[in-house]
Amino acid sequence: MANYGMAFDYKLCINCHACEVACKEENGIDLGAKNHRLWIQEDGKVEGDFWNLKRDKVEFMQMQCQECEDAPCLKACPNGAIYRDDNGIVRLHKNLCDLTMACMSACPYDARYVDEKNHITDKCIFCADTRLARGETTTACQITCPAKLRYFGDLDDETSEISQILKARKHFTLKPELGTKPKLFYLE
Ligand code: SF4
Ligand code: SF4
Repeated sequence: MANYGMAFDYKLCINCHACEVACKEENGIDLGAKNHRLWIQEDGKVEGDFWNLKRDKVEFMQMQCQECEDAPCLKACPNGAIYRDDNGIVRLHKNLCDLTMACMSACPYDARYVDEKNHITDKCIFCADTRLARGETTTACQITCPAKLRYFGDLDDETSEISQILKARKHFTLKPELGTKPKLFYLE
């Protein structure tokens, strides 16, 4: 049993998309941009007229399910299909999902998509069915990232790398005002 979370040294991202490819390969996600458990969001403004465009410093944000402690998707599902597993990961009883899509509407992070192959909603589950099930302690995105900016581990273990880095570095969560208590952290 663990309480898994992830931290991102997000400013190191070079937008190479290796994490997305590794995730699809590891977890058998269909090709196509709309099928994704994780994605990179480009933040930055473009200003000026046609001949004189200026672009703010662009930042790349690693986006995926935020593993909310108080998960709106879990509360919204009318079929009780969404649950939290022993490792603190928000999961889906696939046989109970009827694609009502209430979870997709409830998620403030846009983290879920429709898995048309399996007729369910899907999202990142920290490779629970693949790498973690095989006894590995890393996720596909983490092990693949050339910038080594992803930290994954047990938030309840004070000696874990993620606990140590969260102790040492300032960090923030996305949309904290919503009270969802994400377990994904972005390092300052
Ligand atoms: Fe659910 Fe969305 Fe929170 Fe993930 S980010 S636990 S899908 S509400
Ligand atoms: Fe960014 Fe790492 Fe993903 Fe490349 S693999 S896009 S550096 S998070």
